[in-house]
Amino acid sequence: MSDKLKKIAVYPGTFDPITNGHISLIDRALHIFDEVIVSVARASTKSPLLTCEERLAIVQESLEGKEGVRVEIFDSLLAEYASNVGATAILRGLRAVSDFEFEFQMALMNRRLQKEVETVFLMPALSYVYLSSTIVKEVVRNGGDVTNLIPEPARLALIKKFGL
Ligand code: ADP
Repeated sequence: MSDKLKKIAVYPGTFDPITNGHISLIDRALHIFDEVIVSVARASTKSPLLTCEERLAIVQESLEGKEGVRVEIFDSLLAEYASNVGATAILRGLRAVSDFEFEFQMALMNRRLQKEVETVFLMPALSYVYLSSTIVKEVVRNGGDVTNLIPEPARLALIKKFGL
């Protein structure tokens, strides 16, 4: 399929680290889009625990073999970046109501900046609705079990980072 006909979505995030909630969203998006570009944000207001290169490597390893997925780092204005890579959509996840206000603001700003790129919201599998990278880091740091909540490369990276 030529790149012009391809329906491409950009899925931006901090992915500090990627969780099964993120992966659930990517799998759902692959039913709608021909390609999902998972875009790891270099700069983040969230002061990530893992470096950008670590986050990228974990995402790559966790998504290895998934057809229609590309992983890269992005370090610019999201709306422009999405348009430059030929995406027609920005993919974001909605969990509980708490995500809504910020996501709504961001979607409207991105539309203002690039009107032909739509933000598409998907919901994860129910079992991941309350899952976040933040909570996973807390659990691992305190020796808790996160099996089935994050991919193995992410679990190993956190254990190493916390010196456990
Ligand atoms: P950001 O710093 O851009 O919010 P995150 O990595 O925290 O980066 O999240 C990226 C996107 O994935 C956001 O839209 C977020 O709402 C969504 N997301 C995070 N965790 C989940 C989850 N468990 N289920 C569905 N979406 C999620």
